[in-house]
Amino acid sequence: MVKDKLEKVFSAPTPELNDLEFILAREKPQELEDIFNFSDRIRKQFMGDGIILRGLIEFSNHCRNSCFYCGLNKNNKTLERFRLSKEEILSCCEKLDSCKIKTVVLQSGEEDDLDPLWLKSVIEAIKAEFEIAITLSVGERTKEEYGIWKNAGADRYLLKIETSNKELYDSLHSGMSFENRLRCLRDLRELGYQVGCGNMIGLKGQTLKTLAQDILFFKENNFDMIGIGPFIPHPQTRLASQKKGEVELTLKVLALTRIVTKNAHLPATTALGSLEEDFRIRGLKAGANVLMPNFTPLKYKKLYEIYPNKRCISEPAGACSSCMEELARSVGRYIDYSRGDSRKDRSSATCA
Ligand code: SAM
Repeated sequence: MVKDKLEKVFSAPTPELNDLEFILAREKPQELEDIFNFSDRIRKQFMGDGIILRGLIEFSNHCRNSCFYCGLNKNNKTLERFRLSKEEILSCCEKLDSCKIKTVVLQSGEEDDLDPLWLKSVIEAIKAEFEIAITLSVGERTKEEYGIWKNAGADRYLLKIETSNKELYDSLHSGMSFENRLRCLRDLRELGYQVGCGNMIGLKGQTLKTLAQDILFFKENNFDMIGIGPFIPHPQTRLASQKKGEVELTLKVLALTRIVTKNAHLPATTALGSLEEDFRIRGLKAGANVLMPNFTPLKYKKLYEIYPNKRCISEPAGACSSCMEELARSVGRYIDYSRGDSRKDRSSATCA
C-alpha cells in the first residue's frame, strides 16, 4: 500500500496532500524501509552517487531577531557575540579551497549592523582569489542589498521558511512576518540567485498536515536546495523545555521531499548529525546528496550556538572535511568535488 502511494506522489505533477500525510504517518519498520529505499532510488536516478560538499563559515552571531527556537536570538544575553573580519573569512576560504571544496556558505545571524558594502567587498575578494561558488545565508534583507551582493558575484542564497504555515510561523517569530519571508524568497529568485529553503521538524503546533504542506511548498517553488533538520531545544530560548524533533519523522520528510522535488540538492544537515548519534548517515540513505563541513575558526564555532551540542564543535576548522570521505565511503558513495550548481531547469521558475 505504501509503495503505491510512493509511486503516486512521485508521478503526480502536484501530489495530493492526503497522500503525503498518509506516507508521513507510516511507522512500521517495513514501511519505513520502503519509503527510504524508494527515496534512495530517486536520489540515485536524479543526482547520482556523488556527495557534494559545501564549506560553511559562520561569520557572525549578532542577530536582531528573537526567533523562539534559536540560541542566537537577541534576548540571549549570556552569549558572547563575535564577527569575523574580512581577512579571517578569506583565511577560512583558503583552508576550504585547499580541501578542494568548491562552495563557501557565508552564514550569520540577521545583523542590524551588517554593512552591505562590506559584505560586497568580501564577496569580491573571495571571487578574485578563489574559483568557488558563494552561498549567502544572512537572513531577510532588502531587494537592493540582495542585488548588490548578486552583482558582486554571489551565486546562491539560503533562507529557510522554517514552516510554511503562516500561523505557526508567526507564533515563533515575534516582530517578523511570514509575508516578508516570502517577499525575500521572491526577490532572490527574481535576481537570479539559486535559492535554498527548508524547514525544521518537531516544532510544537506542527502536524503531519503542516509538514505535508511544507513539502508541497518546496515543490511548488521549485527550490534549488532544501535543508531539512530536526528542531533541537536551546536552554536560552522560549522553547527550552520542548521536545526535540524525531529522527524518523525528519527522515520521512527528507525522503518525501526527495521523491516529490526529484533533483533539488538536499543536505544531510548538521542538526541531523547532532542528535544522539550521527544520523547524517541515515539522511544520506534517505535521499540526501550534500554534506556541509564547518570551516568556522574553532574559537568562534562554539559561539555560533543555534542549538546545544552541535556536531564537531571542538574540531579545528575544516577538520571534518576529511571525515566526509569516510562518511561517503560508509554509504557506498563518493565525494564529488564539483561546484554542485542547481540541477533545476530555470526556464519555468516561479517563487512563493
Ligand atoms: N539568519 C539567517 C536566517 O535566518 O536564515 C541564517 C542563520 S539561522 C541561525 C540558520 C538556521 O538555523 C535557521 O534557518 C534554522 O533552521 C536553524 N536553527 C535555529 N535554531 C535551531 C534549533 N534550535 N534547532 C534546529 N535548527 C535551528
